[in-house]
Amino acid sequence: MDTMTVARVSLLSSFTYNTLQSDVVFGPGALARLPAELDRLGFRRALLLTTPEQAGEVARLGALLGSRLVGAFTEARMHVPVATASAARTRARELHADCTVAFGGGSTIGLGKALALDPGIPQVAVDTTYAGSSRTPIWGLTENGRKTTGTDARVLPRLTLFDPELTFTLPARVTAASGLNAMAHCVEALYSEQANPVTALVAEEGLRALGASLPRAVREPQNVEARTGALYGAFLAGTALGSVGMALHHKLCHTLGGSFDLPHAETHAAVLAHVVRYNEKHAPEAIAAVARALGTDDAAARLFALLTELELPTSLRELGLAETALDSAADLATQRPYFNPRPVDRASIRGLLGDAFAGRLAPRT
Ligand code: NAD
Repeated sequence: MDTMTVARVSLLSSFTYNTLQSDVVFGPGALARLPAELDRLGFRRALLLTTPEQAGEVARLGALLGSRLVGAFTEARMHVPVATASAARTRARELHADCTVAFGGGSTIGLGKALALDPGIPQVAVDTTYAGSSRTPIWGLTENGRKTTGTDARVLPRLTLFDPELTFTLPARVTAASGLNAMAHCVEALYSEQANPVTALVAEEGLRALGASLPRAVREPQNVEARTGALYGAFLAGTALGSVGMALHHKLCHTLGGSFDLPHAETHAAVLAHVVRYNEKHAPEAIAAVARALGTDDAAARLFALLTELELPTSLRELGLAETALDSAADLATQRPYFNPRPVDRASIRGLLGDAFAGRLAPRT
């Protein structure tokens, strides 16, 4: 038996695997299926959720859904402020909504999750970015600059509709950054503490689809093939994120976003290559899968090069982090123990953050 076969046998010999109970409709033009899907699920009074930037979609959804749509709340915001969730709840109660239709990315779907949690209104998501929130049971709420997150099966959307044509308007910067955010879900799923053969397949295929499609989706936003490939990769990435626990990368980005107000997806993009370099010797099979999916022999270098190719900021400095914040970021990110393939200690994490701040990828050792 060669070493690949031995590794596979050991991975297959013992694992646990949980299936997400959530329907998916995927494909160009899938939005047209929404009325029939609401009818199938027995929903009659939908409240539409959007951000102010996507409020223009209310008219289109009104025409599509007719009397199934009872109203709209167009104030969804990044990281779901508690006050926003409370205002949306009031609107849902006034309208006797029996479901929400969240049309947008992680911010809007996050608001739908808050309503699914309390007062328990099920969500149908029309996911229009690559962040992957619609495939996970993870919710988050923010108050006074503090984000609280949790996992609850009730917040997983009852159905997600992925229509690549709805991503034609996704700005190049959000396309690139939320695409890298999705790649980060795949990378960490591959070396997750709960990694299993099924999520490994999903994550590697997600990386392959995103790696092949993102550069073209950024250059040619209306190319349906590129948009379909990227959204397919994002669907797989979200599924991986919703199935297994994450590690150092997500911890660092949560800390940088939550405590230093850095933009969510761009931070994921700027940090990912550094975490891959940090972990590569301690998760060789997983990082080999990343490299295979991206068609390279140096996964970290390829992820770092993608930043320039996709015209994304290559450093935390460019994202507005102050150099004086690096010490407290390292403290915060190492306060409590969590799983990571390579042990996490303050000095090493301070080094990693210093590299990410300067936009300088450490060489392979
Ligand atoms: P987002 O939802 O904040 O969207 C970014 C901007 O792009 C918004 O203005 C939005 O209206 C606009 N937009 C979205 N789709 C568009 C389209 N197709 N065309 C034109 N404009 C469009 O961005 P995001 O990266 O999807 O979500 C980030 C948020 O999601 C963060 O709060 C993050 O913490 C959360 N998130 C949660 C999970 C989870 O599992 N709970 C997973 C990933 C991200």
